[in-house]
Amino acid sequence: IKKENKNDFLMFKRSFTEGFKERLTLETELHRALENKDFVLHFQPQVNIKNNEIIGLEALCRWNHPNRGIVSPGEFIPLAEKTGLIVELGDWVIREACRQNKIWQDLGLPKVKVSVNLSAKQFLQRDLVDNIANILDETGLEPQYLEIEITESMAMTNEKFIIETLKGFKELGVNVALDDFGTGYSSLKYLSQFPLSKLKIDRLFIQEKTEQNIAIVKTIIHLSHSLNLKVIAEGVENEEDLSFLIEENCDEVQGYYFSKPVPDTKVKELFSKT
Ligand code: C2E
Ligand code: CA
Ligand code: CA
Ligand code: CA
Repeated sequence: IKKENKNDFLMFKRSFTEGFKERLTLETELHRALENKDFVLHFQPQVNIKNNEIIGLEALCRWNHPNRGIVSPGEFIPLAEKTGLIVELGDWVIREACRQNKIWQDLGLPKVKVSVNLSAKQFLQRDLVDNIANILDETGLEPQYLEIEITESMAMTNEKFIIETLKGFKELGVNVALDDFGTGYSSLKYLSQFPLSKLKIDRLFIQEKTEQNIAIVKTIIHLSHSLNLKVIAEGVENEEDLSFLIEENCDEVQGYYFSKPVPDTKVKELFSKT
């Protein structure tokens, strides 16, 4: 080996080992965090575009890391998915979201839905619907106040099974929204086959208002309404985003313009603002 190449190799070897170690520590830490319940949910309001009323709260998971502080889901959800820990974590998220929503209802806040993100692995659990039915039972939350968010990519793996699960949710009375719509393997076939209640327009289309994106947003809104689905736009950050969506007859909006995701202790204030 030439000297230069050898150095490259050693560099590669070192960074590979470090990356591996880093992952291993993160994985170990993730295990520990699950045991210690070092996770928190933040909540972001979903707003009715017609009257500005909050109609839902999306639960977004954060890792409250002892040294790193708050770690965002973009950093640990992929690892949790890879290692299968997402099933246990996801279970905690659903339970915690339901428990918290029931507390707000009992405090007398307006009754709204809590939306929970599900990952593919979680969605493929055989006992998912029963499991969620049990969580609703245990927490005392009525099914119509829980919403599940799934993504299109989940649909690819096992269509028949997905449809069965979605039917199960429908029977249970839990709504299902299709998240990040337009960014995945969008197949229009799924929209006719899947019992869904809502489409979520990905924030990508809202934030870059190119001619194409504007056309896409208009089309998704029309499509949703023709299929009797509600439609919500994510990533609404300013007045301009909002007035465009009002103009296009979108049903619901979510984004920093209304509020960033907030800890449970701040949710009460969200309601007093509207
Ligand atoms: P998502 O489901 O598409 O959630 C929306 C993300 O956009 C959130 O990021 C939210 O904080 C952010 N966001 C909301 N409004 C705005 C806005 O106006 N502008 C911008 N720039 N961003 C906005 P977050 O909380 O970092 O979550 C990232 C992703 O992590 C989520 O994307 C979701 O896919 C995943 N995730 C979060 N919590 C969970 C969970 O409990 N389980 C699973 N499986 N995935 C989760
Ligand atoms: Ca989501
Ligand atoms: Ca989304
Ligand atoms: Ca997303």
